[in-house]
Amino acid sequence: LFSAVTLAPRDPILGLNEQFNADTRPTKVNLGVGVYYDENGKLPLLKCVQAAEAAMAAAPKPRGYLPIDGIAAYDAAVQGLVFGNHEAVAAKRVATVQAIGGTGALKIGADFLKHLGPNAKVLISDPSWENHRALFTQAGFTVETYPYYDAAVGGINVAGMLAALNAAPAGTVVVLHACCHNPTGYDLTDAQWGEVVAVCKAKGLVPFLDMAYQGFGFGIQEDGEAVRQFLAAGLSFFVSTSFSKSFSLYGERVGALSVVCTSAEECTRVLSQLKIMVRTNYSNPPTHGAQVVAQVLTTPELRAMWEGELAGMRERIKAMRGALVAALKAAGVTRDLSFVTAQKGMFSYSGLTAAQMQRLRNDFGVYGVDSGRICVAALNEKNLPAVAAAMAEVIKG
Ligand code: PMP
Repeated sequence: LFSAVTLAPRDPILGLNEQFNADTRPTKVNLGVGVYYDENGKLPLLKCVQAAEAAMAAAPKPRGYLPIDGIAAYDAAVQGLVFGNHEAVAAKRVATVQAIGGTGALKIGADFLKHLGPNAKVLISDPSWENHRALFTQAGFTVETYPYYDAAVGGINVAGMLAALNAAPAGTVVVLHACCHNPTGYDLTDAQWGEVVAVCKAKGLVPFLDMAYQGFGFGIQEDGEAVRQFLAAGLSFFVSTSFSKSFSLYGERVGALSVVCTSAEECTRVLSQLKIMVRTNYSNPPTHGAQVVAQVLTTPELRAMWEGELAGMRERIKAMRGALVAALKAAGVTRDLSFVTAQKGMFSYSGLTAAQMQRLRNDFGVYGVDSGRICVAALNEKNLPAVAAAMAEVIKG
């Protein structure tokens, strides 16, 4: 039965982790991961999460099946976070379903889109989170890219991106990173978002905003700018939400998919189809993580605690960006490094070549991705001097 099954290639990041774990140098640093670590290099367990879990443990509840679309209070809280108090929510024209992480949200959306337009193509950014291509391909789509990162200018090729969107046939699904672009860290400005929204509208494209890092850029509200612009343009669009990073709840798989429709009646039909996607994949979502997030988002003191803790993570990343630039300059790197502090979110495209990244790994035990991506959120005051010294050595050749 399985004689013709080929061995799938290893996940490149997991492969890097294995290599890191096998490295016996005590000074090794893993900047390949997509995870936020605190100032002690530890995965945080947020206080707001602990408080919500303590309250839940004090009033234990039986675990019946959840509705197919998840916990109603959770879905409503997600809508508040993503869409604010926009009229679309009050008008009940946003369909939101709880999902198994941001990945699950993308997959439910992809499956629904495949039913809607089986011949549509999907465009993702070049480069993008690796799983975008795999996930939409697995859902049956032909996946192509639009230009995004331009190594020559060390930033976004906005003209190229807009030209590719302009040339795409109506109905093309365009996957956009709502904030904190993974892997590059380069986000569009508000004005550039305006141009992207205008093309999507003019050409009848289907925007799919992936929002895996809300609150890691400028703030919860601020990071919703792209969503607000799509709402203001009156478009129908998709938003996938992940709380893996913003609640440090990676293993609980907490996410949501929201679809903005043109009317409440249309929304009812869309929601009914999303539920079929959920029902036929895993029937209904799990309780714990979404209950924690719902409890935090709807309890004022816990919400304030979360906002503070999220701001703490955001500010620490920013501080590490600044410290990295300062340390590289102090070590004699003369090239303009302002892009490191201009980038947003957990990652930085360092501009290092694959050969330089390999040298970092082999000679200094500093593990990043060959694309040049490093996870700034894994830097701390203890490991930064060694990382900066190694990077400086490699950059200076
Ligand atoms: N989209 C992007 C851009 C991501 O970086 C990630 C997580 N690395 C996800 C989606 C998936 O999030 P989750 O872990 O919640 O499935």
